[in-house]
Amino acid sequence: MSDESLLMIPGPVEISPAVQAAFSVPPPSHTAPDLIAAFGSALERMRAVWKAPAGQPFIVAGSGTLAMEMAAANLVAAGDRVLVLKTGYFSDRMAEMLRRLGADLVEVEAEIGDAPDPEKVRQALGLYGGVRAVFATHVDTSTGVRLDPAPIARLARERRILSVFDGVCATAGEEFDMQGWGVDVYLTGSQKALAVPAGLALMVVSDRALEARRRLPGPPPLSLDWDAWLPIMKAYEEGRPSYFSTPATNLVLALDAALGEILERGLDETVDRHRQVAEGMRAAWAELALEAIPVRPELAANTLSALRFPSGVDGKLIAAIAERGVVVAGGLHPAIRQSYFRVGHLGHCVGQGEWLERTVRAVGEALADLGHEGDPEAAVAALSREIG
Ligand SMILES: *Cc1c(COP(=O)(O)O)cnc(C)c1O
Repeated sequence: MSDESLLMIPGPVEISPAVQAAFSVPPPSHTAPDLIAAFGSALERMRAVWKAPAGQPFIVAGSGTLAMEMAAANLVAAGDRVLVLKTGYFSDRMAEMLRRLGADLVEVEAEIGDAPDPEKVRQALGLYGGVRAVFATHVDTSTGVRLDPAPIARLARERRILSVFDGVCATAGEEFDMQGWGVDVYLTGSQKALAVPAGLALMVVSDRALEARRRLPGPPPLSLDWDAWLPIMKAYEEGRPSYFSTPATNLVLALDAALGEILERGLDETVDRHRQVAEGMRAAWAELALEAIPVRPELAANTLSALRFPSGVDGKLIAAIAERGVVVAGGLHPAIRQSYFRVGHLGHCVGQGEWLERTVRAVGEALADLGHEGDPEAAVAALSREIG
């Protein structure tokens, strides 16, 4: 972002100087030796960050939404029964994609700010036989709700059902043990907790999922087809040039650098740091008497805060925060869009205590300007106590 403004939305996010440097080179060819090396390295590093040493990673030019579409199109055909766990805007989007594929959709609902209870999911699986796949959003960015993937993945595994988790606002910021939990697809976009510019659709896929693709009655759209991309991913890992569709070469260089930074710090340490920062942000919001959208503390994501406007305050707050040099996001869930705002605390920024303090101070001072009580400096102190 610009020199003055700090981008604190749930993606795109601020990137590190090393990632910026890796990105900011003259565009390499998709067959240049350095690009091939970085592509192969990024694929290998994805296995580590996804905790899926035996998984098949894919790096494709596109958005998080494209990654969702790719997962759906490779696993689901018309008439297939699939379960979708509803936590907000992005699980609604997943449901719409599945509907367009002609799936027989079973939706497990939850109140806004809540996630479906695993027991409710178990009952739905019992009630509706023959479910082929379960789709869930790890962190729903519209509500700041994080669901616990482990029990959902276990229910799917026990019944030999595929499980797909949208990790776009979670991967590398929230705990996820893809292989340990037996998950079949975990997908993300480059611009969220991985802290790379927007433009890459990323996912790791299990053998079972690749098998399921081959059993589809007909192939998915060519540019979404895992089988079309598989030889390309294999070639890059083996250090060979290849071509199917031009990769976003500068972004691949940036991705490899970002994954390298995460693994250098340690994946568990990176996730722990997101947790610690989230606790600090929550302590600061409590000091400012701001209420969160997630209905129970354990549902609150570590990667962002979704906060109700206090009474007498509205969307003007976001502009007042921006005047203080910090960009936060408005509401996204259509049912409550006008009543809350969102602050991202994911990716590179979690290592930058000063940025986090600046964010809390900007929110606190903007609130004070709009006549809301609460001491900005007390909020900053509450944050600082948690993040050290
Ligand atoms: C941001 C986001 C998406 C969509 O990603 P785009 O890159 O904007 O297409 C999907 N799911 C979740 C959970 C997200 O946070």
